[in-house]
Amino acid sequence: MAVLAELEPLMAHSTADAGKVPSAEADDHFHDECGVFGIFGRQDAAAIVTLGLHALQHRGQEAAGIVSYDGSQFHVERHVGLIGDTFTKQHVIDRLPGNRAIGHTRYATTGGAGLRNVQPFFAELSEGGLAVAHNGNLTNALTVQRVLQKQGSIFSSTSDTETLLHLVATSKERDLNSRFIDAIRQVEGAFSLVAMTAKKMIGCRDPLGIRPLVLGDLDGAWILASETCALDIIGARFVRDIKPGEMVVVTSKGIESLFPFEPQKTRFCIFEYVYFARPDSTVEGRNVYEVRKRIGAELAQENPVEADIVVPVPDSGTPAAIGFSQAAGIPFELGIIRNHYVGRTFIQPGDSIRHMGVKLKHNANRRMIEGKRVVLVDDSIVRGTTSQKIVQMVRDAGAKEVHMRIASPPTSASCFYGVDTPEKSKLLASRMSVEEMAEFIRVDSLGFLSIDGLYRAVGEARRDSDQPQFCDACFTGQYPTRLLDFEGHDNVRTLSLLASGGS
Ligand code: SF4
Repeated sequence: MAVLAELEPLMAHSTADAGKVPSAEADDHFHDECGVFGIFGRQDAAAIVTLGLHALQHRGQEAAGIVSYDGSQFHVERHVGLIGDTFTKQHVIDRLPGNRAIGHTRYATTGGAGLRNVQPFFAELSEGGLAVAHNGNLTNALTVQRVLQKQGSIFSSTSDTETLLHLVATSKERDLNSRFIDAIRQVEGAFSLVAMTAKKMIGCRDPLGIRPLVLGDLDGAWILASETCALDIIGARFVRDIKPGEMVVVTSKGIESLFPFEPQKTRFCIFEYVYFARPDSTVEGRNVYEVRKRIGAELAQENPVEADIVVPVPDSGTPAAIGFSQAAGIPFELGIIRNHYVGRTFIQPGDSIRHMGVKLKHNANRRMIEGKRVVLVDDSIVRGTTSQKIVQMVRDAGAKEVHMRIASPPTSASCFYGVDTPEKSKLLASRMSVEEMAEFIRVDSLGFLSIDGLYRAVGEARRDSDQPQFCDACFTGQYPTRLLDFEGHDNVRTLSLLASGGS
């Protein structure tokens, strides 16, 4: 509880942003909060980072930043909005010269919105500039931050990534590699980082490997990116995944691999396969689209239903719906059409308009649905509000029956590892049984994939019930790390946002 007392000033700060609508509330999904990309040794580095971030736009849509180095100085551009809103403008790219650059796209959240939390973070240290872009969330950042503040550190953001920069800056080690290692050994939680100094680009993953990070090569220039789709967009070659607990250091002499942590059992985020990663990415050796189709097939086997058509809730439910349809032998139809040109629902000005969000984004394809028994397939249920509206829309279009099938187990616990998550009490599955949820969203039947079915779809049986080989905490409540900043506090969302700043 002493921790809470010291957090009060920070929590008071969060209320300054209280007028903004939480993004997860707006479209009722968990949202991955960041994508990172870096390239070393290519003249048009910032333009390539722009393309890479564009391919990673699904990992965060509210703000982006790029830091480049031109051989004598660093250049920083950070803007609110989509990559295409700013970084495709020639005069912006012209302000980012150099043959190395790193970038970041982020999902801003209630407590962490605003330019001061937009990454990459950049600081001038005693041995030169350091830029850091972070995907994940540190679960002891506030605790470390308090210690640093007592020692005189001044923070300019609410981001956990800034805590990491301070740890590098205040390390007693001599060279930058050692200082960086010293810093990452003091933090806990999830981090896939891309950092850059005048002489090197560094990439690393936390020892559990919770978030992804891959290594690529473009005609001899090394690339670090959150997902392989960011390599494909520029025709780069996928080299390999950065290993959990690995730190790679890229210089003009080549690439070096270090392992600064004791080996641990890895716990990659299984939700990346369900929803976060792009279906055309290959993540930890598995094509995401294929996994999602297998998820759909498992779902059909576990939750069979007599129906006329299988309809995905687009776009995220589509691969699983295809897998369901093929396994169940029920025709797949695009019974809901998504309008790709509507803005994000939360930017609507008032409550009455915002509640129309689902209709603006999705429309029932009445001709396909009318008089049919429909299996609706979606990736997950968070609050249930979107599901409720989609089901009503399908009923209004004349469906005879609506059966909902969810391509993941019930999400009953919050995420502390870099995902925009409502507090536990807002998660429908944390307070209702499956039958109650079915009644709430008004479906004829509701079925979820089991946790074992999810593991089967990924291709590995769940091996250890206490410490399985993936993080599946939002389904099971079994967190793979301690949660130092959050222990004993029930306002998970507020603290999570403060700790992450949406990284
Ligand atoms: S709790 Fe674990 S599995 Fe769930 S979203 Fe977070 S990292 Fe992924």
